[in-house]
Amino acid sequence: MTRPLRIAVIGSGPSGMYAADALASQSDVEVSVDVIDRLPVPFGLVRYGVAPDHLSIRSVRDTLDKVLDKPGVRFIGNVEVGRDISLAELHDYFDGVILTYGASRDRRLEIEGEDLDGSVAATDFVAWYCGHPDADRATFERLIPSSTSVAVVGVGNVAIDVTRVLAKTVAELDDTDMPQHVLDTLGTSRITDIHLLGRRGPAQATFTTKELRELGELLDADVIVDPADLAFDAASDEVIRTDKAIARNVEVIKEWSTRVPAGRSRRVHVHFLARPVELRGDDRVREVVVERTALDGSGGVTGTGELTIIAADFVVRSVGYRGTGLDDVPFDAKRGVIPNAEGRVERDGKAVPGEYVAGWIKRGPTGIIGTNKKDANATVASLMADAESGALPSASAGSAREFDDLLASRGIAAVSTAGWRSIDAAERALGATAGRARTTIHETGALLAASAD
Ligand code: NAP
Repeated sequence: MTRPLRIAVIGSGPSGMYAADALASQSDVEVSVDVIDRLPVPFGLVRYGVAPDHLSIRSVRDTLDKVLDKPGVRFIGNVEVGRDISLAELHDYFDGVILTYGASRDRRLEIEGEDLDGSVAATDFVAWYCGHPDADRATFERLIPSSTSVAVVGVGNVAIDVTRVLAKTVAELDDTDMPQHVLDTLGTSRITDIHLLGRRGPAQATFTTKELRELGELLDADVIVDPADLAFDAASDEVIRTDKAIARNVEVIKEWSTRVPAGRSRRVHVHFLARPVELRGDDRVREVVVERTALDGSGGVTGTGELTIIAADFVVRSVGYRGTGLDDVPFDAKRGVIPNAEGRVERDGKAVPGEYVAGWIKRGPTGIIGTNKKDANATVASLMADAESGALPSASAGSAREFDDLLASRGIAAVSTAGWRSIDAAERALGATAGRARTTIHETGALLAASAD
């Protein structure tokens, strides 16, 4: 082949950027990579998922940003595959397509009252406080000043993030890049109680210790654990013995159960063996009906039938993310992933030529950011092996310029790497006006305007 191999990466979150990096870093074949995102800005959940007050994790974006400087790598934002261009058309311009569009939807609780006003998915709340262009600003500007007691369902890291953001004072969030309207709204909060609900025991929670500890170190919030919730069975003892991270989590929770509340303005109640079975309310949610569970000896729980009521006029359902399908791509709806073998997309057990997958849409919404590097590298290894063996179909139409012309002919205002750099500069400048390192620009129109400067 006399021209470079042309690869499209769909999605510019960590897995997409790591895939682009792996392609650009190998030296066997000359490769040009277009990283396409439906948003005008790159980095997916690093920008719109990682909690804004986790400054060191968010700084991963600097590492990802460097990938866009590598020869042959281009960012093409504000282009949605399935709306602006079809997958079949992409095959005309690219020899291979790597799908890395993640798992952006919420999993459902499937209980009565789940859709009452005031009951929201964590994915939506996180999108709002990170300044996602699609966030429902009006809902949170209404719910936050009018709520006093919140229930956060789930005890994973997202539940911890959500709880921490609600429990912190605005002063504790001021060094973040949250949009100003988010800080202003959080400043109107009258929330006094936040209930974190885990349906299993302390040894079965999925949060990590560093994130857990932070909850016990907040300026104006007490953390409260009922010693009756410290239930452990043989399965718990076994994981505590064999998994240091779980042992550390349990130590933190045990220490919290001995604390005497210091009379701070907010209280974070961490519950275990508490399974929500119904949300009740009138014009909006008012309470969560919780069934006490009992450990079943093998890592699961059974219901005891004992019900309690927790007052909550705001419920955040944080029970995991869920992947969705894309037109013309095989999809395993039960697992919320694209079926694949070593990153090669499979239809009816056979590899689809030129189609690959990496990240959460490949393996499900688990792991930390770094997990996606190994995952993306494995997918790129499969792609490069196919390029070597001749298994990769060769695109007929396309140079990079012809692809750009196609987008322009459709009136699509694609954002280039240079456009993203302009947005980046505009966000830093906006932050500087308030003495902050950056303030996120949250509207698509404003992002596009900044990209053109
Ligand atoms: P997660 O870790 O899978 O946690 C989901 C939680 O929801 C679990 O406690 C789960 O309980 C609970 N749950 C599920 N279905 C439920 C139901 N029907 N009723 C009650 N509870 C239910 O997912 P996540 O918190 O969304 O996080 C996603 C991934 O992102 C994780 O890998 C996480 O570590 C990562 N992440 C990392 C960070 C960080 O490193 N700082 C921050 C955010 C996210 P069971 O275990 O009983 O199912």
